Amino acid sequence: MRVIPASFEIMESLDRQSMATRIELCGRLCYKSEDKIVAGSTEPFIKRIVQHGHNSVMEMAALTLKVAYDAESMATQFFGIQPKFLQIDRTDKKELLITGTVRAFRELARDHGNVKIIKAISAFLGKRYPLFYFDLAPKRGWIPQDGVKVEKLSLAEVDGLSADLRAKHRFVAVRFVTNRAVTHEIVRHRPCSFLQESQRYCRYSEEKFGNEVTFIKPLFYQEGSEEYRLWERAMTETEAIYLKLLETSSPQAARTVLPNSCKTEIIVYANLLEWLHIFRLRTTPAAEPSMREVTIPLLQAMKQKFATIFDGVEPETK
Ligand SMILES: Cc1cc2nc3c(=O)[nH]c(=O)nc-3n(C[C@H](O)[C@H](O)[C@H](O)COP(=O)(O)OP(=O)(O)OC[C@H]3O[C@@H](n4cnc5c(N)ncnc54)[C@H](O)[C@@H]3O)c2cc1C
Repeated sequence: MRVIPASFEIMESLDRQSMATRIELCGRLCYKSEDKIVAGSTEPFIKRIVQHGHNSVMEMAALTLKVAYDAESMATQFFGIQPKFLQIDRTDKKELLITGTVRAFRELARDHGNVKIIKAISAFLGKRYPLFYFDLAPKRGWIPQDGVKVEKLSLAEVDGLSADLRAKHRFVAVRFVTNRAVTHEIVRHRPCSFLQESQRYCRYSEEKFGNEVTFIKPLFYQEGSEEYRLWERAMTETEAIYLKLLETSSPQAARTVLPNSCKTEIIVYANLLEWLHIFRLRTTPAAEPSMREVTIPLLQAMKQKFATIFDGVEPETK
């Protein structure tokens, strides 16, 4: 058995990748199959994910569009369908700023492909990112629409928006390495997208996991104390039972004995406004200490990168 401390990483390097690459990189966290990323692996991975309906993987890339339109009736028709899972702002009289994940835009096209603004968005995205529409486009044949102009904003342009707009339209992914109790709490934040290491698929008896179960060091117990020794014994015994069960059953069956202390990885992808909400709830003394162990230093790291959004937000101390 291995015991490691909790940690986190703001996945800034993802922002420099293509959307397809970032989707593959994030998606493979579930299976811990990052070692299978090779030249040419992205397209079949994404197609498989879509065909299997593992749609949350397609939420791991967000993009921002500027949509200018001629007639107000187009906007009325667009808002009439009550578009979901999008950040939408009116930035000019006949101009919208729309941010959504690949999944959100895919489902918009699938469910409301007859709405003029959505037709124009789908034609624009379908041409630029055919891989994300491989299963939808042939059925629809979206074409650019007269009177609607769609442009994609670069990340630099999103970062250059006013603080209010940036908070809503700038998405940031964070990878946590933490215990299952913390991830159980973090997934309650509904506006986020999540991908988590799967105990159904990962077989910790395999070489790549070191043939052992990894646990997160509990901050509640001092190493060397009687409580820590009890915790350690419980983990050792649990690991032995888990490995024994794996001899005759699947990981999804054997995992039923694994405890909250088990190490897990999770990617949380959200806009800065939701991160602000998370910090306000999850850095206070009322929050679980193992949660604060990662959220307080994460808030400090976010302040370095997004000062205009997080300046003045301080974790309460009492
Ligand atoms: C100290 C603490 C103790 C807790 N204890 C418990 C507990 O004992 N049991 C338990 O079950 N949970 C508990 N929770 C979890 C808590 O109830 C929330 O589920 C969690 O914190 C998510 O936060 P949220 O609902 O504010 O917002 P999020 O899900 O992060 O959503 C962000 C915002 O979106 C909006 N929103 C999203 N979905 C909806 C919706 N369906 N309807 C209306 N508005 C929506 C709201 O404006 C919300 O502020 C606890 C949380 C904390 C911080």
